[in-house]
Parts: sequence; structure tokens; C-alpha cells
Amino acid sequence: MENRNFINGNFIDSISNKSVDVINPANQSLVGSINEAMDDEIDLAIDSAKNAFQKRILQDMDAKVKSKMMRAIGAKLREYSVEGGKLLSLENGKTISQCVGEFKGAADTFDFYAGMTDKIENKLIPSGKDTFNYVVLEPFGVSLQIIPWNYPVSIFSGMVAQNLIVGNTIVIKPPELCPLSTNFYGRIFKEVGVPEGIINIVHGRGEVTGRKLVKHNGIDYIVFTGSPEVASEILKETADRIIPCHFELGGKSAAIIYPDADIDKAVDSTVKGIFKPNAGQICVAMSRVIVHPKIKDEYMSKLISKTKKLKIGSGADADTDVTPLISKDQIQRVSNYVKSGIQSGAELTLGGNEHDNKLGNFYEPTIFNNVSTDSTIAQEEIFGPVTSVFDFEDEEQAIDIVNSTNYGLASGVFTADDQKAKWTAERIQAGIIWHNDWFVDGTNLPGGGYKKSGYGRDGGMDGIYSHGQTKRVSKRLY
Ligand code: NAD
Repeated sequence: MENRNFINGNFIDSISNKSVDVINPANQSLVGSINEAMDDEIDLAIDSAKNAFQKRILQDMDAKVKSKMMRAIGAKLREYSVEGGKLLSLENGKTISQCVGEFKGAADTFDFYAGMTDKIENKLIPSGKDTFNYVVLEPFGVSLQIIPWNYPVSIFSGMVAQNLIVGNTIVIKPPELCPLSTNFYGRIFKEVGVPEGIINIVHGRGEVTGRKLVKHNGIDYIVFTGSPEVASEILKETADRIIPCHFELGGKSAAIIYPDADIDKAVDSTVKGIFKPNAGQICVAMSRVIVHPKIKDEYMSKLISKTKKLKIGSGADADTDVTPLISKDQIQRVSNYVKSGIQSGAELTLGGNEHDNKLGNFYEPTIFNNVSTDSTIAQEEIFGPVTSVFDFEDEEQAIDIVNSTNYGLASGVFTADDQKAKWTAERIQAGIIWHNDWFVDGTNLPGGGYKKSGYGRDGGMDGIYSHGQTKRVSKRLY
């Protein structure tokens, strides 16, 4: 298992002699440890990315060559998907099939963007007979990318692939709770022959290595996926340097279920939206459901019955539905929110406890009903298998509830009426709206946050343009 930092095209032995242990969330066993980068390693990684940028390796690379390189990375990700997926499951807790799927999905992302290397079209803007202007997309320089633990292999692929197309060179810091599987990337970059310095992987704790990276003067652009609290700290830290930041942050995503909705489909979507993928530890989790009173009893009874059948357990068991939370801290966080929900007067309809198997970080799927919109559980991101159900009198009130938090990442509307769905989608403040399902996604589709859920877009063509800056060249003809 590779546990070193990947700098300038090679895994390097630790200079700091520091490391961070990686713990299996299903049973607290030691999966391994990762070398923690301190100042020396950080300087090396940033210098190497700076050097690769100054040599214009990516900017001058032929589009077909870049495409071939990216497809080769995709092919290797597929080749290592089983080995890598097993390791990801050990350190992250999700089922092996989800984790193998994450590697394959990352491969698809590289394939998609490999097809985009020659599709960037720049603009020519006329402004009179003696002048012409053209506008080109250019990189920022060295991009620092900081990623979270819930989908580390997948988020790595999207961020890196889009930045490669624009021409930013990269220093990426994977999450300390789940770093080992991302080192497959270093191995792959070496095998594929990615030019030295273009992508550097440095590991370490957020409050140590992460902070040092953010403070470093060699960074030209920051792409951060994680919590709003850390994003805020990054903005304060970089305020004097005025470097651009791209933020993909948390959410408090809500579904509105209108009385004409297909209730069974809405229930299935709720179960997969909050309990099944990664036990609700997902930025777009369906952590709020706003249901019309006419159908609420039927919806609740079907939801409870379906949720009771979910199997809680280790990701190593293929038939597990609800996998562990990432850490004991996360269990504590979820327990505190559940206590606060009970204190606020919300009705605890199901769950509300840590699972009997205390060796792993298992928490019961939890449903609150009749939740007050201003309570903490209605406002804050819990990041666990907990959802809150509300009801509404009319469409305007449903929209008010959806928009009542500081977040705006995803949202859903369940109705057979396309006009009503359109009316609703227009009024919801969120970057992604799903109609009649949850998780209708694809690499070709852009997504991102409104409000405290961040800014910048990822996915599709929008994602490419979001990671660069434009330059205008205006010419006078003599
Ligand atoms: P986090 O903010 O605690 O950590 C994210 C990353 O930042 C980690 O690599 C961590 O080491 C690093 N970090 C922590 N403190 C830092 C600091 N002071 N300076 C620099 N780096 C620091 O978030 P998390 O617990 O890993 O992930 C959960 C959060 O991520 C949730 O809010 C979730 O909604 C969000 N998320 C958002 C998306 C999205 O696409 N919008 C995707 C996944 C997760």
C-alpha cells in the first residue's frame, strides 16, 4: 500500500517523518497510515507545479496528446477499480461495489473530459472595420485542490480532469480520513507518463497540511470541496492575496412532494437520497422532505416500512444498505443533532440511536416528523442518516420552507404536473433541481451551489469554463 506523497512525478520518502493513521470505520482496525506533508514537502510540490506551469507543458500540449493521456488515466482507473475499490471501502466504509463503482465513475469522468480537449471554442468579437478582438480561456496557474472524504476518488477525478483541460497545474490534498485509495492516482500518473510536476499529491491533516498549503504564496487558485466553515477560513486567509477560489460546499437539500406525486417513487427516492448512499454523508443528501398533508400519512407509513427493512452493517458485506459513519466524531455530531431535534419538539418517528454494534460507527436511519423550520435540525447540515419531514398548505409555503436555510445545493420536486414542476424549479434557490427522482446525474451535467453551498460550477462544459479566466486581445489593423 503506497503511503507517500507524490511530487514531481514520483512518490518521495517522507522528509517530515510524520504520519497520520487511517482507521476502518466499520471496526476501528488500522488500515494503514499516510505520510503527512510539512513545509519541505509542500515547498517541493508547489515548486514542481509552478515549474511545470512556467514551462507551459499543459498549455502547449497538443489537444490529441492531452486527450490520449486522459483516456489512458481512465483506462488505468478501470484496471485498478477492484483493488482500489476494496481499499476505498476499508478506509471509507461504503460498500465494495459502491467503491469499485466510484473508481469506474472516475474513469468515465476522465473519458468524458478526454473528449473535450479539442472542443474549447474561443470567441471573436467584431467592433468596427479596423479592429478585431478575440477572447481566449486561460488557466490561473498553480491550483490547490482540497477534497473531502465522502467521495475522494470521484471528486479527485472531476477536479483534476477539468483543471488539466484549462491548463492549471495541480497540487491536491486528499482527505486525511480517507487518503490511501487516492494514491492509486500517483501510481497511474507514473504508469501513464503524465509529465512531471503537472499533478502533485500531498497528504496530511486539514488543520496542519491544509492550512500550510492555503497560506503558501505559490498558490494561484484554490478549489475547495468541503464544509462552509473551512471555506470561510480559506477566504479570510487569502483575502490579502485576492486569489480566486472555487467552492463546492455543504447542503440542506429538500424535496417537495405534491399531492399528485407517485408516492412509491418519492419514497424510493427518499431512501436512496438520505440513507443508502454513504449513510447520508453526501453533500446533496435529502435531509428535508416537505410533503402535502393529503398524502403525508401514506408517504410516512411507506417510508417507515421501507426504512425498517434496511440492513445496517459493514461495507464489506454486499447486502449492506446503511454503511458506517466515517468516525466516532461523526457519530457524536449526529447524536448531538438528534438530541437537539428531540429538544426542539420534533417528533422522532424512527431511529435516533447509535446501532448496537458499537465497534463500528453505525447509526440508525432516523426520521423526524413535524419539524419546526427554524430548529437547528431543519437549518444545519447533519451529514448522517437523518431526515426531517415537514408539511405545507400551498406551493408558496413549500417554496418558503425549501429556501429557508442558508444552503442551496440540490432540491427535488415530485409531481405529475410539468407546469407545476417548472414553476417550482424557477423559485427554488439551488444549483441542482431534480424532478421525480433524486440523483439524476452525469459528468456531462453542471452542478454547484447557491448561497452557502458555494460558487463555481463543476461538470460538463460549464465546469471547464469555471476553472479558468478569459483574456481579451484587441487588435487594430493598419
Ligand atoms: P472538511 O471541510 O472538514 O474537510 C474537507 C477537506 O478540507 C479535507 O481534505 C480536510 O483535510 C481539509 N481541511 C480541513 N480543515 C482545513 C483548513 N483549516 N485548511 C485547509 N484545509 C482544511 O469537510 P469534510 O468533513 O471532509 O467533508 C464534509 C463536507 O464536505 C460537508 O459539508 C459536505 O457537504 C461537503 N461536500 C461538498 C461536496 C460538493 O460537491 N458540494 C461534495 C462532497 C462533500
